[in-house]
Amino acid sequence: MRTRSFGVAIVGLGGMGSEHARLISTLADMHIVGAYDIKPDRQVFAKDMGYHVYEQLQDVLADPEVHIVLIATPNHVHKEIAIAALEAGKAVISEKPVTMDSAELLEIYDVAKRTGQLFTVHQNRRFDEDFLVIKRLVDEGSLGTITHIEQRIHGSRGIPGDWRQQSEFGGGMLLDWGVHLIDRLLLMIKEKVTHVYCQFTHIHNNEVDDGFRLFVTFESGKTALMEVGTANYINLPLWYVTGTTGTAMIENWSMTGKIVHLMAESGHDAVPIVAGAGLTKTMAPRVDDSIIEEPIFRIASDVRDFYHNIADTLEGKAQKIVKDDEVLRVMRLLEAAFESDRTQQVVKFE
Ligand code: NAD
Repeated sequence: MRTRSFGVAIVGLGGMGSEHARLISTLADMHIVGAYDIKPDRQVFAKDMGYHVYEQLQDVLADPEVHIVLIATPNHVHKEIAIAALEAGKAVISEKPVTMDSAELLEIYDVAKRTGQLFTVHQNRRFDEDFLVIKRLVDEGSLGTITHIEQRIHGSRGIPGDWRQQSEFGGGMLLDWGVHLIDRLLLMIKEKVTHVYCQFTHIHNNEVDDGFRLFVTFESGKTALMEVGTANYINLPLWYVTGTTGTAMIENWSMTGKIVHLMAESGHDAVPIVAGAGLTKTMAPRVDDSIIEEPIFRIASDVRDFYHNIADTLEGKAQKIVKDDEVLRVMRLLEAAFESDRTQQVVKFE
């Protein structure tokens, strides 16, 4: 039973700020008090939506109706807004990437600790159904011991918008999609990361990465490849995961894909097949009785649970699901990826 509804002010009412507003308008435990944006057209939009429009950030921070400041500005100002809001006694939800680097994040953590205010990050792609299916397969061990995880996000429209194309605002795809992919990987594989290698692409943009390939090695030898591309006219699958006794592939957000499990080793050796200009026995397809193929199962998920968790945490009934040490580890891995691209070396991690 909800005892209260928390007032939220959105700072930065652009694409994602508007999506937060839409989702929060459906909740019983939060409501929009108002919005602040530096662009006049976004202020007009806020007014048209019926929100109170603040003239400056200080007015947001002085409003006693505001319990939570939700930051959805470009990335370079997350830190200064978060610290100002925490100092004003507000809880803070920041968009990802939380900051430009881990040093900025630690500054925020210090202020959150001193003020005793809640600070967390909107890692909404933890609620993606494709991720939840892969996480369940990994958690339940139904592919055997996981050996390799590939996550890909492909598109062909280049980097969208304005600030995402410039480094001073925290642009580039590693800080954009990369944060989500790393966050999800580290939630699934709880091992120490030993090595990081990253290559950026600059197909349409020389200043920031318009895509990347990021290779991560864990202590046990498990590996992961995360790839984002903005000049891919044919998309590779979102997920391709191999374990010692199975493989899973999810092709797209419609959840097309399959899971193949090894049931038993067949008693006889493979028969060579003609493959291109040669023969192969090694790569001959399995005989049907040694594997079982399943469609991708479905998992119900509602991203609004992210906001419910924050309301519950503020009421002392829950722990925040996006935890400080998780966010910090993601930022450190991001930094290793930047270093690896810059030096074109494998970076030792942790
Ligand atoms: P956007 O450009 O559409 O919106 C940003 C808004 O912030 C603009 O309206 C701009 O005028 C405003 N703004 C800029 N500086 C400001 C300041 N100092 N104070 C107040 N307002 C300011 O960008 P976007 O796509 O909405 O991205 C915003 C943030 O949300 C980024 O951090 C981005 O990484 C994140 N994001 C997250 C997701 C997700 O799925 N979690 C998706 C998209 C964007």
